[in-house]
Amino acid sequence: MSDRVFDERIIYGLAAAPGVALGRAVVRKPDRLHIPRYRIAAQHVEDEQRRLNAAIARARRRIVRIRAKTTNRAKLIPEVGAEELGYLFDAYVHILKDSRLVRGALARVANERINAEEAVRVEVALISEAFKRMDDAYLSARVEDIREIGNRLIAFLLKTEDVKPVTMLPKGSILIAEELTPADAAQLNPDTVVGLAAQIGSPQGHTAIMARALGLPAVLGAGSLLSEVENGDQVAIDGDRGQIIVHPSHTSLRAVRRRIELLKAERKQLRRLAKRPALTRDGIEISLRANVELPFEMDSVAEAGADGVGLLRTEFLFLNQPSIPDEDEQASALISVVRRARGRPVTIRTLDLGGDKSSGDLVTRLGDSAASALGLRGVRLSIAYPELLEVQFRAILRAFAYGPVQILLPMVMSVQEIRTARDLLARAARHLHRRNEHIPHPLPPLGSMIELPGAALTADALAQVSDFFAIGSNDLTMYTLAIDRSDEHVAHLYNPLHPAVLRLIQFASAAAVRARIPISICGEVAGDPRFTPLLVGLGFRELSMTASSIPAVKRRILGIDMSSAVQRANLIMRETDPCRIQALLDDVNEAA
Ligand code: PEP
Ligand code: MG
Repeated sequence: MSDRVFDERIIYGLAAAPGVALGRAVVRKPDRLHIPRYRIAAQHVEDEQRRLNAAIARARRRIVRIRAKTTNRAKLIPEVGAEELGYLFDAYVHILKDSRLVRGALARVANERINAEEAVRVEVALISEAFKRMDDAYLSARVEDIREIGNRLIAFLLKTEDVKPVTMLPKGSILIAEELTPADAAQLNPDTVVGLAAQIGSPQGHTAIMARALGLPAVLGAGSLLSEVENGDQVAIDGDRGQIIVHPSHTSLRAVRRRIELLKAERKQLRRLAKRPALTRDGIEISLRANVELPFEMDSVAEAGADGVGLLRTEFLFLNQPSIPDEDEQASALISVVRRARGRPVTIRTLDLGGDKSSGDLVTRLGDSAASALGLRGVRLSIAYPELLEVQFRAILRAFAYGPVQILLPMVMSVQEIRTARDLLARAARHLHRRNEHIPHPLPPLGSMIELPGAALTADALAQVSDFFAIGSNDLTMYTLAIDRSDEHVAHLYNPLHPAVLRLIQFASAAAVRARIPISICGEVAGDPRFTPLLVGLGFRELSMTASSIPAVKRRILGIDMSSAVQRANLIMRETDPCRIQALLDDVNEAA
């Protein structure tokens, strides 16, 4: 295949995972669907309708987001007609709220006892036929709208099926999509996929986090992507600059290949640091641990020379599963992580499902609210389903027999949540004793994530019932500044250096020091070497990050003088202007 006949095009998005990749585009369009048809039992009709309602709600949310993005772009190009586009999207939302399509498909599930996908397909076909018979230009145009909506609904519904197209991509693929969920990203095989880009998403969301964990360069929030890239196009992804180069010219190809070589050489050089302790120039040791989503990442954890796992995001073990994993399945995944940590501590966070980490099927079963950032998610979801938490505690306690483990609760808001969780932990231990399972004594420490502003402000009370704290700066920033971390429209406003965020971190950390409990930080700032002098200057002695970030952070630590880091942190904490704070930090980094 020759690319010479094409002109190079550059599409701009948000730099979401570092590195550069060159490959062939595999475009994942939401409309090429194989629609299964099957009967459902009478007792499952309500579940099936709930599944359809969840898909409708997701499709509606998606359209509202695309509407905002597209109409904003259209305002800049008057010929496109922002107003008309707006009406079109409003019509889509309306169809998804109350329409013959929605009512008809729901009724069909109940009356004909067929699966939701087939119900939507049949309903779309009938409506289209009826509109066509009316021989009216306006209504014929609406047929396309109904089809578009129907395809979206079916695509959302199919995500819950065991169809995993992203797992079967050819070697050297660059995945191009409208949106990739964290669950999709978790299925990518870095031996075949070399990079990814999507129209939706931001660097702080879990899709970006997963791409970084897999070492895949990624660009997200790239608005016009799907209309500009075709299957098989040669594409370069620049995850540092947020660019997607389609049909790169000879000059661009040379530059991209050169950067790939340079990055490889730099990584090789950084790997030499793996065995060195992370000591500041004045000899203070900082423990660098890894954030892990799936057991296979433990290879890179060992390679990076991590001091153990500072955050195991167990919800990734639940995503992409046909059903909720049982105790044995969870235990075997956790045991594998603990064993491969070779005696180093592993901090296992209980299920933090919710927000962007909501695989449709699971959320449908546990209740739609988890999909909302302010809904029944994190530890509140676990407490609402105590059996779920108890099973997870049993699996964690079984892994505890293989090495040191700590348990971390996500999205903690109150003392009561920690007490309830502790009671359930004791109950899980009693259950295992009754089964004659060996679990070491005492039970693992139980800590709280400080990632809600309310938790940070009441950290002194939470410290009384927590064995340790871990600051989740990602969500702390999101909830403090009211910025959805996976929404590309507000990504430019997301700023963990905002004084409100820094003050909450300092407040919580002072409470931990007073209560004499350990405190670490495991949000994305911990893995960004530009933040390292500030974090160690604020007193953090344990940082947890994507394994691949460890060498660069270690290199930064080796150059830090603790007393000047403390002085600089004090100066920063007196500032109220985020730009001044950034300048004070840039200044210390440039001098390094
Ligand atoms: C955080 O919120 O900072 C965090 C580490 O948890 P997650 O990114 O999984 O929400
Ligand atoms: Mg969080």
